[in-house]
Amino acid sequence: MHVDALGPIVMVASEVVRDATRFMRGAEPSAIAYTFTKANGSPVTVADFVVQAFVASRLGRHFPEDPVVAEEDASALRADAPSEVGDQVLRLVRQLLPGTGVEKEQLFAWIDRGRGVCGHRFWTLDPIDGTKGLLRGGQYVIALALVVDGTVEIGMVGCPRLSLTRASASQADVSDHGVLAAVEDGANGGVAIAVRNRGAWWMPLDGGRLTPLSVSSESSPAKTRALHSHESRHSDVAELHRVLRAIRSSAPPVLMDGQTKQVLLAAGAAELLMRIPIEPDYREAIWDQAAGALLVEEAGGRVTDLDGLPLDFTTGRNLLRNTGLIASNGLLHDAVLSVVRERSLR
Ligand code: AMP
Ligand code: MG
Repeated sequence: MHVDALGPIVMVASEVVRDATRFMRGAEPSAIAYTFTKANGSPVTVADFVVQAFVASRLGRHFPEDPVVAEEDASALRADAPSEVGDQVLRLVRQLLPGTGVEKEQLFAWIDRGRGVCGHRFWTLDPIDGTKGLLRGGQYVIALALVVDGTVEIGMVGCPRLSLTRASASQADVSDHGVLAAVEDGANGGVAIAVRNRGAWWMPLDGGRLTPLSVSSESSPAKTRALHSHESRHSDVAELHRVLRAIRSSAPPVLMDGQTKQVLLAAGAAELLMRIPIEPDYREAIWDQAAGALLVEEAGGRVTDLDGLPLDFTTGRNLLRNTGLIASNGLLHDAVLSVVRERSLR
């Protein structure tokens, strides 16, 4: 199947994310040439602004009525960032959008399209999810989702450094059941696409057909392969180890940045992903969860918070009614939820 079979909105969104993902593959060194720390302490690079400007401007052209709710805004560029950061962002956006003759004010306006309000229908964007992964030479993604009446209808996760290939017999230790499960070095990259009630697919960046994604069929909790954030401040890894011990899984969690984790879960390369907040009041940002959640669900998995509640995308920029995250292949979800209850994590 080709992506055009999924309708015009999916096609536009997949092209936008594909183009941004391709650009990042080719431009990584110049896209991370300047990095600074935002007022909230998180790192931001030239790439975050370039991708946000590009995606917001392209979405604006195709869907002028739709708000975009995104992680960045131009205030950091106007105020905190050294001027060479803005200059570099402008240079790269001009490369990405040749012929537009964009100047700084237009650039800032595109970035600020991301200040949209979460209404009845909106897009949510994390231009670079896993910025620390990008800086470390690890995984990072471009995450875009369409939310309509609180339901994630479309999810796109662009993965510049990931390839999913058909697992061969020799890769049986990576996945003995997944259709697509191998992570390759020197990856060609791709976009994971999810459409509500239609399914989830992998679209390689170098073209070709969509390959369906489906979660692992492993039903033994003891064989659970877990994924965890690289950043130990983002989720309590010691507690994850205790949960894994309680379900008798001995495999150490694989550390991975951003929604790359949901892509691997959807591809059957792991069975469990948990976010156990270290700061009890932390509420996940919608752009960190929307696309990844739909991907896991449409690949046949299950996504809830630590209370077993579905993620509620009606509460604005953050998931105010949810704490933490459990995403799984579905088969071990209840076992994990009961350990969470026993351990009084909630
Ligand atoms: P991950 O690599 O899974 O930790 O995901 C990266 C995302 O974690 C970033 O995009 C941040 O929005 C988000 N994040 C930042 N601070 C925190 C925190 N204190 N707890 C949980 N997630 C966070
Ligand atoms: Mg993020």
